[in-house]
Amino acid sequence: MLKLGSLSDVGMVRETNQDAFCALLSPNAPLAADALLAVADGMGGHAAGDVASRLAIQTLVASLGKAAQPDQPGDYRDRLKQAVIDSNSKVFEAASQPEYRGMGTTMTAAVIIGSSAAIAQVGDSRAYLLRNGGFQQITRDHSWVQEQVSAGAITQEQAKTHPRRNVLTRAVGTAANVEVDAGVIELEDGDRLLLCSDGLHGLVSDEEMGKMILEQEPQEACTNLVALANERGGNDNSTVVVAVIESTDPDSDANKKDPDRLHRTTLEMPGSKHKRSGRRKLLLVLTSIVWVPLWLIGKLIAAPFKKRN
Ligand code: MN
Repeated sequence: MLKLGSLSDVGMVRETNQDAFCALLSPNAPLAADALLAVADGMGGHAAGDVASRLAIQTLVASLGKAAQPDQPGDYRDRLKQAVIDSNSKVFEAASQPEYRGMGTTMTAAVIIGSSAAIAQVGDSRAYLLRNGGFQQITRDHSWVQEQVSAGAITQEQAKTHPRRNVLTRAVGTAANVEVDAGVIELEDGDRLLLCSDGLHGLVSDEEMGKMILEQEPQEACTNLVALANERGGNDNSTVVVAVIESTDPDSDANKKDPDRLHRTTLEMPGSKHKRSGRRKLLLVLTSIVWVPLWLIGKLIAAPFKKRN
């Protein structure tokens, strides 16, 4: 059984929230996966950053939904990687419009299927794993400061306050091609996954994040983590998605009987009345640019999600 929490917040300084996320739980997760989690932190002037991050998330969901269900966890990794590449193409294409020139986004995504999680990474949003009380980052930042840390030129501590800490070495949508880091981890009962944008991991320590998601329900933890970032200045948008893997045993999956599964996304989705097509429904998702059809499996519950403290 899986439990999700999620929150995205504009913070205390910025005027717009250019982060986007999705936290989709079966049966709404595409690819017949148990869950799809993703965080994207957009960049670009004015509205462009928020267009980039939303378009990237939306394309990720659509791309995974269209793909045939793979047999092996490794295939999910490849599907997820391809979905990020598709996001890159969409954002790069949209960035050819003058008002969106130069826009791009980070993308950290996880597909959970049974006892496996495929993870994909571009940029400096992060995925962490909490296991047996140990909390560690499982993605590597594609940032200038991370390169300096890896080269031994600066310390991890110095990286946190370095003036160039926002400079990315990879992003989704800023070039025709993108290199995506992707892998698969085997999950254990009790594992917790946390995905977040730099607005959170820049202001809240790994220790604090690990402690909070260990001790609190996922949604409560998300609320309190974002509140902590805002207490400390909230200089950036902050976004967090948490998944608690209570059991990887499919037979104990009480989720399937729970009508109030939590699944949220920053995408604008109509909340009711869709035509059935077998077990699938065609959704139209409103974006800043176009309506894009998405295939999602099972009962649709979707609501616009944008919350400000
Ligand atoms: Mn950010």
